[in-house]
Amino acid sequence: MPESSLQQDLSRCGIPCSTDVALKEFSWFKSGGSIRLLISPETVEQLHEAVSVLVRHATPYKVVGETSNLLFLDDADYACLLCTKGVNGMSYNAENGWIVAETGAKLPDLSRLALHHSIHGFAGLEGIPGTIGGAVFMNAGAYGYSIDKVLTKIELITPEGELQALEAGELGLRHRDSLLRQGRMKGIVARAWFAAKPGDSKRIYGEMELFHAKRHKYLEYMYPNLGSLFVGSVYRELGKKDLVYRVISALFLGLNYKFKLFRRESPINRKWINDFTVKRFNLKFKTQPFSDKTINSLVNNGQHTDEHLDYIRQLQELTGNRMIIENEIVQPF
Ligand SMILES: Cc1cc2nc3c(=O)[nH]c(=O)nc-3n(C[C@H](O)[C@H](O)[C@H](O)COP(=O)(O)OP(=O)(O)OC[C@H]3O[C@@H](n4cnc5c(N)ncnc54)[C@H](O)[C@@H]3O)c2cc1C
Repeated sequence: MPESSLQQDLSRCGIPCSTDVALKEFSWFKSGGSIRLLISPETVEQLHEAVSVLVRHATPYKVVGETSNLLFLDDADYACLLCTKGVNGMSYNAENGWIVAETGAKLPDLSRLALHHSIHGFAGLEGIPGTIGGAVFMNAGAYGYSIDKVLTKIELITPEGELQALEAGELGLRHRDSLLRQGRMKGIVARAWFAAKPGDSKRIYGEMELFHAKRHKYLEYMYPNLGSLFVGSVYRELGKKDLVYRVISALFLGLNYKFKLFRRESPINRKWINDFTVKRFNLKFKTQPFSDKTINSLVNNGQHTDEHLDYIRQLQELTGNRMIIENEIVQPF
């Protein structure tokens, strides 16, 4: 197929791109149709240039990092993704007391860099498999640690292709939320500066190891998944609907967490309560769309994404649409 003028402009700037990329191979969740044009800049300058080219060609696109929060639909093809994974420089500046990270750097690498320099505030981010850009967008966090607690400022590429410096306080960062996520601020996070406060390396190491072990016990790491589907506990929210379920699930989860009961060390330590939930609320599916470790995490067992959407709809109906969805369903464009 002949190169489009958009591709020609990107190649002239030396920006890597590819066509007709299968999302089943590219995306974290291994779902979705195809991407007609995937742009993969390798520097902040190329990222900036790519936006200018896209603006000139009036081409709709979506910026993505690791896609670890994105549910691409199997029957959908997507026009253009701008992927930041190649823009991943990161450095620690002891004199200025900050870590500066480019948008595609990964959170696990950021937390390990912090550990290496005995910097406090990043231990809980160790197991989150996203990029800096995706993490700022979501205000990602875990175990009491989150981006808003360490972020100082960012550089944003506006939809018009301008560079804008913004203080962290201007981003409206709240629990798994930001103005970017709400669509009230538009643009691409290009770089982020983090406050580097000295800490005790032994303590940081101990915490990281503990969080790592907890994650592998309570979260899915085998089948492709997208972390938490909804913000908060689905078990607790379902419990508001049904007193018997509330008591049984609270007892199970409480005892399971506190004591080594119910095969706590087993990788399927929540299977019993999950099976009970399915029966109690009459959840319907052909192939189980959630992890044995928690009903609040979608897994890709090879089923069509329509089955995932149907499961999400059932949970939303059961919880009176009160739960905020954390994963993002990417509609075709
Ligand atoms: C096993 C597993 C565990 C997880 N655990 C956690 C957890 O503990 N805590 C948590 O918060 N999340 C968790 N997540 C979810 C996910 O990793 C985070 O939301 C992460 O921040 C997403 O980053 P990403 O690079 O994958 O973003 P993507 O999924 O690629 O994108 C997410 C959104 O951010 C936007 N975006 C991406 N890059 C940029 C950018 N540079 N500028 C502007 N917008 C951008 C995208 O357009 C999209 O709307 C988990 C996921 C998995 C698979």
